[in-house]
Amino acid sequence: MKNHSRIVWMTGASSGIGKALAEVFAGAGDIVIATSRRLAALRSVQKQLRRAGIHCEVKLCDVKKEGDIQRTASSILKRYRRIDILINNAGVTSFNEFLRTPTNEFDDILSTNLRSLFLTSKSVLPAMLRKNRGTIINILSYAAKTTYTKSAAYSTAKSGAEALMNVLRAEVRDRGMKIMNVYPGAVMTPMWTRKLRKRYSKAMMSPLDVATLVYQLSVQPDSVHVEEVIVRPPSGDLQV
Ligand code: NAP
Repeated sequence: MKNHSRIVWMTGASSGIGKALAEVFAGAGDIVIATSRRLAALRSVQKQLRRAGIHCEVKLCDVKKEGDIQRTASSILKRYRRIDILINNAGVTSFNEFLRTPTNEFDDILSTNLRSLFLTSKSVLPAMLRKNRGTIINILSYAAKTTYTKSAAYSTAKSGAEALMNVLRAEVRDRGMKIMNVYPGAVMTPMWTRKLRKRYSKAMMSPLDVATLVYQLSVQPDSVHVEEVIVRPPSGDLQV
């Protein structure tokens, strides 16, 4: 642990980009609290990192549940007295056409990818504002910037999250807060089926690519506020 380790809470850290974020931030000396719904998967991430000499804490937190979010924020604040960085990474998607999207699937995708950012950000903001310092990094998607078919709920959620965080940034930017939106294109994670990952392996970024970029955004000087970053594979969109 470094003398001035940052306290970093990241959601959806049991897999894909979140797992890589835990590796990169904790590997660089930050105190990482990695959360998701599956404790066994989080423990397996923790074990893998430990083998590489990297320590991270894990906690259960379903971002669809306000109670889980409040409990997680409170327990981190109780232990460390501050949260320096919140990374809103948890997300789910589906690949259904508009008319084939069941209502419960639409609700689930909006709750996980959009409503959760409202709740997690609300849970950490008062403590950050008291210190006049804090960073919220949102892993959105290029789907918020373009139009993909079979992606109505996901695109709606990510565009809504963009709007939500842009408003928040405008409200708190003069109070030491940085709100950063990251818009990745295709990344090789379990969000894509095994078949697609195999087929498009050369047209996807690695989770580590994205996590390393996010880490670099997080260590910019106080005089720099990176508001938006689009990051895509050189080949652009997958032709699925
Ligand atoms: P992933 O490997 O499927 O990981 C998703 C993570 O979200 C898992 O750790 C999962 O953990 C967590 N999660 C899902 N629902 C949750 C809930 N209700 N509460 C807490 N955690 C929850 O996918 P990924 O690609 O790394 O996705 C990470 C983020 O990147 C998402 O926001 C996604 O939209 C975004 N993104 C991905 C791509 C891509 O091509 N892969 C592109 C652009 C943006 P549990 O199951 O353990 O809860």
